[in-house]
Order: sequence, then C-alpha cells, then structure tokens
Amino acid sequence: MKAFGYVSAKDVGHAVALLGEHGAGAKLLAGGTDLLVELKFATHGPEIIVDISRVDELKNITVIDEGLRIGALVTHAELMRSRIIRDMFPALADAAHSIGAVQTRNLGTLGGNLMTCVPSMDSGPTLMALDARVTYVSRRGHSQAPLADLFVAPRKTSLASDELLTAIIIPKANLGKPVAFQKFGLRKGQALALVNAAAAFWVDRDKNSFVQPRIALGAVAPTVIRATRAEAFLEGKTISDEAMAEAGRIAASEAKPISDFRASADYRRELIAVLTKRALESAYARANNKVMESVP
Ligand SMILES: Cc1cc2nc3c(=O)[nH]c(=O)nc-3n(C[C@H](O)[C@H](O)[C@H](O)COP(=O)(O)OP(=O)(O)OC[C@H]3O[C@@H](n4cnc5c(N)ncnc54)[C@H](O)[C@@H]3O)c2cc1C
Repeated sequence: MKAFGYVSAKDVGHAVALLGEHGAGAKLLAGGTDLLVELKFATHGPEIIVDISRVDELKNITVIDEGLRIGALVTHAELMRSRIIRDMFPALADAAHSIGAVQTRNLGTLGGNLMTCVPSMDSGPTLMALDARVTYVSRRGHSQAPLADLFVAPRKTSLASDELLTAIIIPKANLGKPVAFQKFGLRKGQALALVNAAAAFWVDRDKNSFVQPRIALGAVAPTVIRATRAEAFLEGKTISDEAMAEAGRIAASEAKPISDFRASADYRRELIAVLTKRALESAYARANNKVMESVP
C-alpha cells in the first residue's frame, strides 16, 4: 500500500473543502470495505484520504417533503434494522442483508456501495426500481440527479472527483410502492451476485393490472440496468403468472451478461428470467400483504 495523508472530516463542509483543495488527489473513505482493498493493490494511491465516517449529518433516514431520504453514510446493518425501511421498503433491508457478512454490513455504507459502481452491487436494483434520485455536493453547490445517471461504467460514476454523495431520495410518489429484491450467488451467504433483480409496481385494483412497473437488474451489463422492454410489456397488463414469466424472458433478452469464471452468459440469462419472475411475484405478494420468502 502506498503512503498517503489522512484527514477525518468534521462535517460535510469540511469534506467538501478538502475535496476542492486536493481534487483528484483526494479519496473519500466511508466504511472502507471496498476502498481499503483497492488501496492495497493500487499502483498509484491517493495523496490524501478524507475520512467521512464521523460525519453524523449523513447518517439519517428521514421522511422529508420530497420522499424518503437515506443519508449516504447509512450502513447496511442500519438499513436492516431501520423501522422506517422495514415498514416502507423491506426489499431494501433484504438487499442490505444479502451483502457480505456481519462485519461488512456493519461498516459498509449505502453511499459507498453505489459509488463503487460495480455491476453486481446489491443496493442498486431496488433503488433503481423505485426511481431513486441521488443528491451530491461540491464547492459549486448542491445538485440532484436520477440514480440511473450516476452509473456510467464499471467502477465509474458521473460524479466528479470533488463531489460528495450526500443522500439517496426515494420520491414521494413511490412511498409504499410494492417492491422486491432477488439475488443469486454461488453460496447462500458472502457471495457476490451472479445476477440480482428488483421489481416494483402499483396494482390497479379494478383491473388487477400492472401500473408503472419497474424492473432493474444487476451483474448482467456494465452497470445496473432497467429492463425497459419488459416494463413496457407489463404496463396495463392483467397480473398473471404468464405475464410475469414473459416479462422475465423479455428482461433476459435485453440484458448483456458476460461469461466469466463464476457463470456463463447463458446461465445468467436463465437466472434473469427466473429472478425477474420471482421478484414480480414477491412484489405482488407484498402488494397483497402476503409474506413470501424473498432473498434465498
Ligand atoms: C468481504 C466482502 C464482501 C462483500 N460483499 C458484497 C456483496 O455481497 N454485495 C455488494 O454489493 N457489495 C459487497 N461488498 C462490497 C462493499 O462492502 C460494499 O460496496 C460497501 O457498501 C461499500 O461501502 P463502504 O462504505 O465500505 O465504501 P468505501 O470502501 O469507504 O468506499 C467505496 C468507494 O466509494 C467512494 N465513496 C464512499 N462514500 C462516498 C460518498 N459519500 N460520496 C462519494 N464517494 C464515496 C470511495 O471514495 C470509494 O471509491 C463486499 C466487500 C467485502 C470486503
């Protein structure tokens, strides 16, 4: 590991000032579960680490006028324990629970997970299926963007090196939207996703049909993606097993999975179809207040 400077930021303003001063030479440290592994093998380390792990203003989960705001430093363990999350979006707790082991979940943060921008991240699909937005700040001021725009390429986000992700906002219009998360790895625990999937939709009770369906997939393309053709197929359709299975098949056809040492592209395509259908079924069960086993 290369030598580097270290500063523990007192608050967001302090962190932003340090990022502005050091530019690309600075690196933010949240839980460090990803960054420390990266630093160990990096040939060019940062000049300075800006540790934001003590910045309390980024650790809250609150309902605000715009919707549900989750601070970037909320850990996976805190998401699992949060009463608000468990009541409104148990799928977010399921996704958090599927990440690493206890130690990783105690340290790893939601913001850090999104900023790693790896295609298999487990927090991305559920938030993307809920049309989440991200807020970020730099010396130029505060900004907001759809979460989908944050993901540019593997390990590359749209944020500049002097920008700090502050929060994730699930819009008010989607509060309580039934959503479910599914993940398949090579083991039941401590495994990265071969494929993960989230599905969300409202139910038109008169017609028993899908309204505003969203399907988001991880580990099947360079970044987390929406399966927009499958969504368009479902919009307004009567809810049925066949419709969900067909949406799974369409989602599989629009993804671009790769073959690697963990699974072939064909196997991943099969998984997309299966997990998409399971996520749709599970979201429907949630809409009807039935408990279904979610993450295996
Ligand atoms: C053993 C192990 C198992 C794991 N299993 C999984 C798994 O199953 N699923 C999964 O999705 N991930 C997994 N991970 C990856 C990792 O734990 C998560 O991605 C974690 O959420 C990262 O958060 P962090 O706070 O530790 O980020 P850090 O390591 O502190 O930071 C990660 C990156 O994000 C940047 N960053 C952090 N916070 C901000 C911010 N607020 N604004 C701007 N940039 C920021 C950092 O500069 C760094 O580049 C695993 C990791 C380990 C070590």
